[in-house]
Amino acid sequence: MSFRIEGATGSWEIVCGLEVHAQVATASKLFSGASTAFGGEANTHVAPLDAGMPGMLPVVNAKAIEMAVMTGLGLNARINRLSIFERKNYFYPDLPLGYQISQYQTPIVGEGVLAIDLEDGSRKDVRITRLHLEADAGKSIHDQLGDGTLIDLNRCGVALMEIVSEPDIGSPEEAVAYMRKLRSILRYLGTCDGDMEKGNLRCDANVSVRPAGSTELGTRCEIKNLNSMRFVARAIEHEAKRQVELIESGGTVVQETRLYDSVRGETRSMRGKEEAQDYRYFPDPDLLPVVLDEALIEDLRARLPELPDARKQRFESEFALSAYDAGVLTDERATADFFENVAAGRDAKIAANWVINDLYGALGRKGLSIEESPVCAERLGKLLDLIADGTISGKIAKDVFSSMMEDPADPLAIVEAKGLRQVSDTSAIEPVIDDIIAANPDQVASLQKNPKAIGWFVGQVMKASKGKANPKMVSDLLRAKLALPD
Ligand code: ADP
Ligand code: MG
Repeated sequence: MSFRIEGATGSWEIVCGLEVHAQVATASKLFSGASTAFGGEANTHVAPLDAGMPGMLPVVNAKAIEMAVMTGLGLNARINRLSIFERKNYFYPDLPLGYQISQYQTPIVGEGVLAIDLEDGSRKDVRITRLHLEADAGKSIHDQLGDGTLIDLNRCGVALMEIVSEPDIGSPEEAVAYMRKLRSILRYLGTCDGDMEKGNLRCDANVSVRPAGSTELGTRCEIKNLNSMRFVARAIEHEAKRQVELIESGGTVVQETRLYDSVRGETRSMRGKEEAQDYRYFPDPDLLPVVLDEALIEDLRARLPELPDARKQRFESEFALSAYDAGVLTDERATADFFENVAAGRDAKIAANWVINDLYGALGRKGLSIEESPVCAERLGKLLDLIADGTISGKIAKDVFSSMMEDPADPLAIVEAKGLRQVSDTSAIEPVIDDIIAANPDQVASLQKNPKAIGWFVGQVMKASKGKANPKMVSDLLRAKLALPD
């Protein structure tokens, strides 16, 4: 069922194309040697070129080129053997050169495709139009100097990949799924860290509406600089509703650039849409065209890691996991690696449950990522071995796991120190069972009529043994003593 907005005059559908800006994960900028490290003191990561000093020449960062190609390959996109850097001319105080170096007519990567996964389990292909490289601008800070504005050029010149989609996105959910999948691929490739909080991944959403079933495109508005998944969804939904209301009340949508106000949850007009000709694009005379060797492209192709979709499929077939579990485990490369280390030589379904439920739950409560997990894959594996060989029950293992989150000791050492070893010795369990049978004659009578009620007895014995009795053994002994059928 596709997404619809119910208006006063009928049903409407959303058409959306995203322009994503992903900061390339290089240590230095696109055309200078200045650092790209986040959080430096203002204007300390600035080469003369970034500050627009006259006479400075840009030198293209070969690593950034490789990462753009790598990303193109990860998006199943055409790699252009020749691409051209152009100047996009405009004035802004945080752009000292007076132009942004970008790619316009001839980007480094052409058409590709990204498959997105939706909540109902379905998939959809979103076409990629292009990926081009460009240099970021600096930052204007308006709120620290009274009426004045401060400029920080640390970001100025940092390499960005702009990844443009076709208008194939039909709902806020699809837009978020697209962003998530793209982020996942970028992180698998290591070409962008995907950190939206730091602004290293952000997007502009182009939104239009049309009557449901229509194939014509409506006039679009572009909402700038969305820097969280939640804002992407909310801004698109709000903007589409605004357009429907406007059209239904007799107005027309004007193509313009809008800003999302996350406090008020609405979009506001920022400026009229500028046309490409306003920027007077022309090839940068200081930069040669980028010419890629077939050998380099093939070398990068050979170095592509297994990407999330392929890994998910392999997890489903190799480990017999559900599509859902495989999806959760492969979303992040670090989680997938962690899981594979735990699952090696063990029951994969049990390993998946522990990683998804117990580990994720515990990390979530502590606000930690999987890379920061106090329990490494090796230790979690050892814990699962203790369950498998009967040293502890699955239930006691939960307590041991909680201790492991705080205590770097081996799980076996924790089990011994706390005396949690499972009791599988009949001579230790039998007296407990005898006591409980003796103390509960009524329950015994009803159990004899209904052997399925044995759970209550097992529960009592487990409680009396503080969870340490081997539950299978308890159940077997009970059946034998009360002469119940198996
Ligand atoms: P510009 O050069 O003005 O940014 P593009 O043609 O490159 O415009 O398109 C930018 C983005 O807008 C792309 O992601 C594209 O899919 C999307 N887009 C184009 N037309 C529409 C439309 N009518 N409705 C929604 N999105 C659109
Ligand atoms: Mg654009």
